[in-house]
Amino acid sequence: MKKIIITIDGYSSCGKSTLAKALAAELNYVFIDSGAMYRAITLYFLRNHVDWNIREEVLKALKNISLEFIYNYITGISEIHLNDENVEWLIRDMVVAENVSEVAAVKEVREFAVAQQQKMGGEKGIVMDGRDIGTTVFPDAELKIFLTADPAVRVERRFKEMFTKNPNITIDEVKTNLEMRDFIDSNREFSPLRKAEDAVVIDNSNLTLKEQFKLAMKLVKEKTEVRELNHN
Ligand code: C5P
Repeated sequence: MKKIIITIDGYSSCGKSTLAKALAAELNYVFIDSGAMYRAITLYFLRNHVDWNIREEVLKALKNISLEFIYNYITGISEIHLNDENVEWLIRDMVVAENVSEVAAVKEVREFAVAQQQKMGGEKGIVMDGRDIGTTVFPDAELKIFLTADPAVRVERRFKEMFTKNPNITIDEVKTNLEMRDFIDSNREFSPLRKAEDAVVIDNSNLTLKEQFKLAMKLVKEKTEVRELNHN
């Protein structure tokens, strides 16, 4: 089967990474969680008191940031390393979630992350999830999926996920954070969250993970079979 680029974009907590991981495992593709890159940059900025409203400070800080995804055979995912430190779990903290959308709206930050993401896709055989992957990072991707789900369903899902790590978290905190991130992500000046014109929309509010996966695999087959026919 020919290798393609699959992009999965959508609002916060639609299950993009879950679907991307499942597709990558099935197809033996590389899975890249682009949000983890913005989260790791945010963690660096917070730790080092970088003011992301000051361009010079941002440029100086970015020079000291090295991001790498390293596959962990135990967890079965490519975990993000910030300057050789595995920060895959730290970046899921609420303090990062509260600041990441502001950091991700900074032009220089986006240029830094997008350049690395595009390099990762050079070899095809990649599933990348995020907000601007189908529109900006890989506008020529063979398959673009735009995932969506009812806001109440998304809050519930993210709350359950965060509660296991932090039992003090409230559903209101999670709701406020999702609404704030979606607002900033959709209204920022550079690469705002948009559905690419040629993206296929999947609303998974009432789908099981299995149903969603089957639907996405059907789309993959359609794209790869068409490619194979075109190449014969
Ligand atoms: O996907 P995740 O929720 O981990 O992403 C965290 C944040 O990173 C998003 O709310 C958004 O602000 C930013 N992001 C982005 N572009 C991407 C992926 C994530 O701006 N491609």
